[in-house]
Amino acid sequence: MAEVVLKGVEKSFGSVKVIHGVDLTVRDGEFVVFVGPSGCGKSTLLRLIAGLEDATAGDLFIDAERVNDLPPAKRRIAMVFQSYALYPHMSVYDNMAFGLELAKATKSEIDQRVRQAARLLQIDTLLDRKPKQLSGGQRQRVAIGRAIVRDPKVFLFDEPLSNLDAALRVQTRIEITKLHSDMKATMIYVTHDQVEAMTLADRIVVLNAGRIEQVGTPLELYHRPANLFVAGFIGSPQ
Ligand code: ADP
Ligand code: MG
Repeated sequence: MAEVVLKGVEKSFGSVKVIHGVDLTVRDGEFVVFVGPSGCGKSTLLRLIAGLEDATAGDLFIDAERVNDLPPAKRRIAMVFQSYALYPHMSVYDNMAFGLELAKATKSEIDQRVRQAARLLQIDTLLDRKPKQLSGGQRQRVAIGRAIVRDPKVFLFDEPLSNLDAALRVQTRIEITKLHSDMKATMIYVTHDQVEAMTLADRIVVLNAGRIEQVGTPLELYHRPANLFVAGFIGSPQ
């Protein structure tokens, strides 16, 4: 588990500032959901935490260690994207093992971790298949499995369910909840789906144009929205 802290984090692309002074503490083992309209900076914030983008200003800490200058591989963070981004020519097993091979784990250690994650996600009978022989839901589980095998302290999910149909979304949502309690990891999860946010989150962060409008539990945001934007987004009565 790990605490993630952002202090005055800003990000500009060229002369355009897209993240404005974000302060946020995500507690050890907490499930935090980022919501907000398209283009408000949800993915950019995740990428800053993962180290896939460099902050223009401010500090990022994971377990009290300043990580601004640490490369993604050293942050013990795993990111799951909406586009499954599996390697099409590799088997499910190799897709899951790939990151570990790069991290120079031993063959038996890799084998043990891949099979354990596959069992947890109930994809242990699919290890020899190629991604194109899988359903959308199965592919998404492989993508999650690839994150799990690295034993991360923090999971980042960027709209992981948006390519799935409604029934699969519900099922995968339940699995992610189970994963959270099994792994006891800190999770930061991006969605534009309010129902998903309300059911998954310990706390929701509402973003608008690169700023935090409000942070609170689903019930706090619903009953005491800070402003009309939050009320409109969360769907609370006015
Ligand atoms: P969201 O995930 O909430 O839809 P993003 O974080 O993807 O929003 O984008 C926030 C803003 O930053 C948008 O205006 C987007 O166009 C801009 N942006 C994101 N990535 C880049 C980039 N690599 N170069 C330039 N602008 C970018
Ligand atoms: Mg996005």
